[in-house]
Amino acid sequence: MNNILYVGIDDTDSSEGMCTTYIGALVMDELKHYGYQLKDHPRLIRLNPFAPFKTRGNGAISFKLILNSGKETEKAKKLILNQVENLSELQHENTNPGVIFYNGIITPELKAYSMKTVQNIVTIDDAQKLAVQVGAQFHKFKNGRGIIGALAAIGYPLEDRTYELLAYRIPENYGKKREINYESVLEMNQKTYPQTFDNLDEDEDYIAIEPHTPCPILYGIRGETPEAVINAHGILETCEPIERIVVYVTNQHTDHHLLKIDNISRMDKCKCYIAQGEVENSPIIIEGGHVIFTLKDDSGSIDCAAYEPTKGFRDVVKNLKDGDLLEVYGGIGDKGTLNLEKIQVLKLAKVYESRNPICKCGKRMKSAGKNKGYKCMNCGFKLRNGTKELIEVIRCIQKGFYEVPPSARRHLSKPLIRDNSNI
Ligand code: ATP
Repeated sequence: MNNILYVGIDDTDSSEGMCTTYIGALVMDELKHYGYQLKDHPRLIRLNPFAPFKTRGNGAISFKLILNSGKETEKAKKLILNQVENLSELQHENTNPGVIFYNGIITPELKAYSMKTVQNIVTIDDAQKLAVQVGAQFHKFKNGRGIIGALAAIGYPLEDRTYELLAYRIPENYGKKREINYESVLEMNQKTYPQTFDNLDEDEDYIAIEPHTPCPILYGIRGETPEAVINAHGILETCEPIERIVVYVTNQHTDHHLLKIDNISRMDKCKCYIAQGEVENSPIIIEGGHVIFTLKDDSGSIDCAAYEPTKGFRDVVKNLKDGDLLEVYGGIGDKGTLNLEKIQVLKLAKVYESRNPICKCGKRMKSAGKNKGYKCMNCGFKLRNGTKELIEVIRCIQKGFYEVPPSARRHLSKPLIRDNSNI
């Protein structure tokens, strides 16, 4: 018998409270309390950001238990299922927990299924069939939709990975304002960036490590290694107690959700892509401050948006012009618009402005009226057959990568700082 038991858990929370990572933390601490040993860091796996029933960040968790006897295994499973049943927000219509137990090897089918769950939409039936095929046990509470994420969190091939240290609040403080010392976040960022990243938006005075929901998390520090996030946690100061911490290894900030595609016409809703094309209509600003433009290739076109929460990124996008060649990174929501996460400007189109001719006295002339040529307001000289000059405009944007700020970053989106070739 393989003495490793993989445990996957998902869909335990609702928008009003709880968090699957926290249930994971409580379950793991209880198992340790009873003398069980865990192997490696637990995993926090983010799945398709456009999955229809997600509560917030579409995260599922899994961990590995070291087990020595069948009796021990049964006791651990019972303890895990009891905790999930007692702690989940079962009263909420959309909370449908699922738990998977698996003690085989991670097969290519499991890995492929996990990647599909990040890049596509899958069904409860897909997850159940694969669980049966590989011999994994599944436990469904209510409709058990959570088995989709629970199985994906076990099988996920974490080739590129980051870490997140989650610090949890004591229950008395749930829903109250989070008491994190802003100066200590600045200091932590100065001392640990870029080994930790997305800590804050200095331009907006915004602490990005702090969630804005009533969930049990006080803060989450994201970084390249477990040491980096633990070190950063040591620098932070809070004016409220921390109940416990967990360091998860995760697929956050890896761009694993993005599919490279050659044809814009083949892009679907509820999927995320990397695509190249030319700007067809220069950006417009619509109600709410969102900036929209159209990107086209030989196969078709798609509207791309830098929404209001992307703040200063919109100022970059506003400078794009017809004919600019771009690579766009982002996901397509229900309305069919690509929600931009970052762009690479590959080629800038030449843009010209037409101006009235210059007079022999050196001043720019004015129109003398429709079809009447130009006249100089300085010396009075008239030019009957003059034509406008075309002048190349200096563009306010350069070739290269541009990204949304940390406050607007998707969990899966890879910040440019993680890839040195981009900066
Ligand atoms: P939180 O991040 O706060 O833990 P959440 O955003 O992860 O919450 P869940 O409550 O876990 O949301 O709900 C997401 C549901 O969608 C789960 O049941 C999960 O199994 C399912 N799911 C995940 N990925 C997909 C997918 N690609 N296709 C279909 N369903 C999915």
